[in-house]
Formats: sequence, C-alpha cells, structure tokens
Amino acid sequence: MNFLMNVHDALVQWLSHGLLGASGWQALAYTLVVTHITIAAVTIFLHRAQAHRALDLGPIPSHFFRFWLWLTTGMVTKEWVAIHRKHHAKCETVDDPHSPQTRGINKVLLEGSELYRAEAKNQETLDKYSHGVPNDWIERNLYTRYSWQGVGLMLIINVALFGAIGLTIWAVQMAWIPIWAAGVINGIGHFWGYRNFEAQDASTNVSPWGILIGGEELHNNHHTYPTSAKFSVKPFEFDIGWGYIRAFEMLGWAKVRKTAPKLREGEIKPADKATLEAIIANRYEVMANYGRG
Ligand SMILES: [Zn+2]
Ligand SMILES: [Zn+2]
Repeated sequence: MNFLMNVHDALVQWLSHGLLGASGWQALAYTLVVTHITIAAVTIFLHRAQAHRALDLGPIPSHFFRFWLWLTTGMVTKEWVAIHRKHHAKCETVDDPHSPQTRGINKVLLEGSELYRAEAKNQETLDKYSHGVPNDWIERNLYTRYSWQGVGLMLIINVALFGAIGLTIWAVQMAWIPIWAAGVINGIGHFWGYRNFEAQDASTNVSPWGILIGGEELHNNHHTYPTSAKFSVKPFEFDIGWGYIRAFEMLGWAKVRKTAPKLREGEIKPADKATLEAIIANRYEVMANYGRG
C-alpha cells in the first residue's frame, strides 16, 4: 500500500511539474525558443538552402535542421521543396498549390496545411520539382519512412520535461508552421502588405522586420530575387534568418551563393518594357481576383 502511495505521489508530482520543475515563465520561454528554431530550420534549410540553392549548408547545420524538422514538424524535405518550387513556377495560377489569388485568402490562411498535404500526394509534383534533395540512408529509413514518429517523440520529451503542460507546449509547436508558414506567409504574403518590387505575382512584404517568421515576412523581396540568401533589401528592413546565415558562415558552416542588390530608401527597381507590360497584364488579373476574393 505504501509503495502504491509513493508511486501515486510521484506520478502526481511529475504530471504537475515534470522532470524540470519549470515555472510557467520558463515553460513559455522554452516554447518560444523551440518554435523559433523550427522557423529557422524552415527558412534556412528547407527554403533558402534546399528549395532555392541560395546557400550551401555544411553537414553540422544540415543534419541538425533535418533532425529538428523531423522532431517538430514531420515535414519531408522532398515534399516541401517540390511544393515550394512549384509555387514559384506556377505562381498565382490554378496550378499554384497555395495561392490566395486563386483559392481565396480564407482557404490559404485557415487551411494552408491541408493544401500542403493534398499537394504532397501529387506524385507528378514530387517527380518534377524535387531534384537535388537529400536521399541518404537516414532520409529514406527514418525521416521519410517514419515521418510522423518524430513529433511523437517530441510529445514524450515535452511531457517528461514539463508534465501535463508539456501537452500544451507540444500543441503550440505543432500549430506553429501551419499558422505562420502555411497560413500567414503563403496567404497574407500574397495578399496584404507593402511591395518594394512590382513582381509579376501578388507577393507582398508582410512586415519590414523579419523576426517572428525568420525573415519570411519579406516575401515580395523574396519573389523578386528567389535565389538570394538574404531577404531584406532596404535599410529599414531586417531579416533574422540572414543574421543566422552570416553567423554560420563565420563558423565555416555555410557558403552563400547569391544575394540581391541593395536598394536605397524609396527606390523601386526599374523594370524594362517587356516586364512592365507583363506586370500590367498580370496586375489586372490580380485586381480582378481581389474583387472576387
Ligand atoms: Zn510565395
Ligand atoms: Zn521561395
């Protein structure tokens, strides 16, 4: 009986405090740090290095990011890269996997991850747009084959460390990419915000300070210079992802391949005549879609 009481007490103790006995503030700080690392993994590894080859990442950050994405998102590199390259290739057309211009802003904002999952099943997309992604032993036998076991492991880690509140932390982690990347960037980043460039698509800069979403906020800059490793172009813009990339470079962990030219205050890149005509034609369609949206 005494033994059972002890087990019971230990269980209650663990569920309410976890192994760490962390305070609410410490749990919040942990949540912000781990979700930020996931954002960094998406923008630096999946987006800039893999999908656009804007930089080469060495084995230390590459392996860390691949493991971290498996642990916190369950997303498969090949699928993410293929869907994203198709988005650039077919931007704002019916073949764009997640354009708010063709699918409506609410659909992309609220059901962005459903659109992603549907496109991930499209074998044609995977075959056509996924060249050059990792295909080593661990990719085939762990990250792809057991793509959802990583987040299961994360759940166990969180509950072990924090007790019952670990469940909430895990739920926040699981919602982070669907909300901020699949919803906000893919939705609002093609719908609302300011533009430095009259790109042919409807891309916008959601905020000049790219911190919360790792620099992905500067989506109009990115669509104008998709192969640039740096997303900020104006003096008042800030791209934290670029800050990390520079730090990796100093450590010898990364090599930048391309960056966009810097713009002065108030400067808009002049377009040549052919581009300008294409923009006007496209803007007309885009505006028509805004009306319908
Ligand atoms: Zn986009
Ligand atoms: Zn991109």
